[in-house]
Amino acid sequence: MPDAATRERMSCASLAARERGLLWHPYEALDGPAPYTVAAAQGVTLTLVTPDGERVEAIDGMASWWCAVHGYRNPELDRAAEEQIGDFAHVMFGGLTHRPAVELAELLVEVTPPELQHVFFADSGSVSVEVALKLAVQYQAARGRPQRRRILTVRGGYHGDTTGAMSVCDPEGGMHAEFSGLVAEQLFVAPPPAASSSGEDHEWVGSDEDVARWIADVRATARAHRDELAGVIVEPVLQGAGGMRTYDPRCLRALREIADELDLVLIADEIATGFGRTGRWFACEWAGVVPDVMCVGKALTGGYMTLAAVLVSGSVGTVITASPQRALMHGPTFMANPLACAVALQSVRMLRDTWRRDITRLETAFREILPAAAELDAVEDVRVIGGVGVVEFHRAPDNARLTRAALEHGVWLRPFGRLLYAMPPYICSDDDARRIAHAVVHAARDVTREVGA
Ligand SMILES: *Cc1c(COP(=O)(O)O)cnc(C)c1O
Repeated sequence: MPDAATRERMSCASLAARERGLLWHPYEALDGPAPYTVAAAQGVTLTLVTPDGERVEAIDGMASWWCAVHGYRNPELDRAAEEQIGDFAHVMFGGLTHRPAVELAELLVEVTPPELQHVFFADSGSVSVEVALKLAVQYQAARGRPQRRRILTVRGGYHGDTTGAMSVCDPEGGMHAEFSGLVAEQLFVAPPPAASSSGEDHEWVGSDEDVARWIADVRATARAHRDELAGVIVEPVLQGAGGMRTYDPRCLRALREIADELDLVLIADEIATGFGRTGRWFACEWAGVVPDVMCVGKALTGGYMTLAAVLVSGSVGTVITASPQRALMHGPTFMANPLACAVALQSVRMLRDTWRRDITRLETAFREILPAAAELDAVEDVRVIGGVGVVEFHRAPDNARLTRAALEHGVWLRPFGRLLYAMPPYICSDDDARRIAHAVVHAARDVTREVGA
């Protein structure tokens, strides 16, 4: 008779076998690679069981796709969820309201720039982008310009997987050709020129000339299409899933000016960057820019539940209210889910107190350790912004092998394309952060050496 621990391992390993052909994983085939099974998650540690039944403890370098910023089984977040379950888990938001929604909306307005005064809760980041895009079109219609329905955006962006959000993702990475007809044709401009921030005072290093040329091109394109454009959407300063690239904040400032000149709704997608991740509370602060609309998600609930919010400026809100519909035309079943709002309320309260110290700790470790990867022939670039550390290879390595190599160094990483990166929970200790950074460097070295780079 196997002991309890062995039985648990075997049953976890058998889950991976049972789901084969049954369950899809993100962007994987039904018969794709067998996943690791999570047996437990506590603090910054994931207890994983490999498909062969081996038990591995790993520090989570991904914060579960950037959202589990307070780690797992956080006592305060657990308590917030339990207390709300004791009251009620969900009620419809049509005609009803509740304390978690009101208090969270008040807090979000308080912790964002004073211009942002209204809140729409959405079920996920992608849905919040849908709401923001619809809002931009409604705004123009209310201003007597119903023909203005297209969105200007930059290549290399990522805004989600629903079809409206896909339309503003990078056309190649976002599979526009595969889904043409379903996905609206938006107006794309070149990605903002890459730049990086360095040193104590985070000085931005990039090419002045490239920035000036990019701004002139974008301004000219926007002016040429002014009669069709409703808004602009952009990830401020850090383009996430579209390539983990940082760009010069002056480009964001220019988009604000262009939006003002042409009366476009400027939408900042802060779903990945919000709540401190880039070393500013919101990444728009790098440019001193206040958007008309801001989407937040991911870290909002500390990764406990899916929830996003669309924050809208007072002046845009006024126009929507003066429109024929008067409402923002959206309203999902699980809008402002009380459980998610209760947890988010606690998450944002904690983030406000702790983000700066936490991100400084992550950034310091990454800046010290990750540059060693730049010495590998296979590596094109290493960059760090706030609690984000990125190693970009010339060519895409075997990412499954990178994940395995990182696990051998005690860290869970999930690279994509040519990018191996870490975006860990904020609560990582100095030692955790250093172990993550070392695992990135070692995994890069192990795997690229194997292929003879
Ligand atoms: C993750 C992400 C989204 C989509 O959020 P989901 O919750 O996955 O729908 C949108 N924009 C950015 C910048 C993101 O990082």
